Amino acid sequence: MSYLFPTYARWNFTVKEAEGAWLIDENDDKYLDFISGIAVCNLGHVDEDVKNAVEEQLQKVWHTSNLFKVPLQEEVAKRLVENSDGDAVFFCNSGAEANEAAIKLARKHTGKSKIVTFKQSFHGRTFATMSATGQEKIQIGFGPLLQTFEYLPYNDTAALEQLEGEEVAAIMLEVVQGEGGVIPAHKDFLQKVAETCKKLNALLIIDEIQTGIGRTGKPFGYQHYGISPDIITSAKGLGNGIPVGAMIGKKELIESFQPGSHGSTFGGNFIAMASANATLKKIMDPSFLQAVEEKGKSLVQKLEDALYGHELVKEIRGKGLLIGIECSEQVTDLINTARENKLLVLPAGPNVIRLLPPLNVTEEEMDTAVAILKETFSTYKK
Ligand SMILES: *Cc1c(COP(=O)(O)O)cnc(C)c1O
Repeated sequence: MSYLFPTYARWNFTVKEAEGAWLIDENDDKYLDFISGIAVCNLGHVDEDVKNAVEEQLQKVWHTSNLFKVPLQEEVAKRLVENSDGDAVFFCNSGAEANEAAIKLARKHTGKSKIVTFKQSFHGRTFATMSATGQEKIQIGFGPLLQTFEYLPYNDTAALEQLEGEEVAAIMLEVVQGEGGVIPAHKDFLQKVAETCKKLNALLIIDEIQTGIGRTGKPFGYQHYGISPDIITSAKGLGNGIPVGAMIGKKELIESFQPGSHGSTFGGNFIAMASANATLKKIMDPSFLQAVEEKGKSLVQKLEDALYGHELVKEIRGKGLLIGIECSEQVTDLINTARENKLLVLPAGPNVIRLLPPLNVTEEEMDTAVAILKETFSTYKK
């Protein structure tokens, strides 16, 4: 008997302790963690610097509400602005909330209501972000949804050309669809998205909740593509495990949010800001990011060497350390076998194994993971 709503298909697995890329379960078994709390613990578990920053803050003050000035918010916002095309930040507590803020700001700023998103996208579980998500399985049973979302096929430039209408407030998308199957956007597609926004006088919202905070080897994933979004949303890795979300917007948008327009009781609380500040300080260092890009290339190469040629493996793809192995059938059993072999990975859609190692993963840890995957694939029986 559980006292919880059964909203998650949980593994029979309890973590007792964690450090870096490693988890120890209640039986003292040690696992190599290539999930990182779903792209959250980008500096690995229990990072020493983040821990110290949070502990120090815990001694001083935890929460005052946004009735007060919170200088740490300015500091974290400055780091986000300096590493993106944005000029101002709104803090919240999760990815869905960051997207909610973006949707509200886009509507308020443009005076228009329609938001274009894409099939297989994932934007969150609140009412608006669930409606924005282009996956029926997430929406089933909750209708009627908000009617002001339209879903186009991803990476389809022709479909964008057909898009017209006075009513489009924004186009919102991920630059690598994460939950939808680790599908990177094509460069010409994203450039077309940006062009279409200009043509329709609509805002470009990039959901960087999974791809941001160094995951792809740039501060934000869109920076691989030569586009300049009006709004960027962030969460997951931003606090390395402490809940923090952020919406970053360009200066033209600032006046559209006034006192009373939007808010959050917890948003930007001292503990959250201490963790985000320490996290950004480490990750936004160009040499750290450079290493992420190199590790990503190295891991893809190792995976290709080990797995290409296996009958199940169709494609290995990704950006930085967000990597997908597309298979010709469902990956549930493979993921379970990998776990029995002490490597933790997760699915993205039915047929893709998703790897999200911590960004400071070592070559040795990558070798271990690849060896376990090779073993897992080679013993797999259909
Ligand atoms: C995880 C995720 C979200 C939702 O974030 P929550 O913190 O779970 O609300 C939104 N968009 C993308 C791209 C995500 O990966």
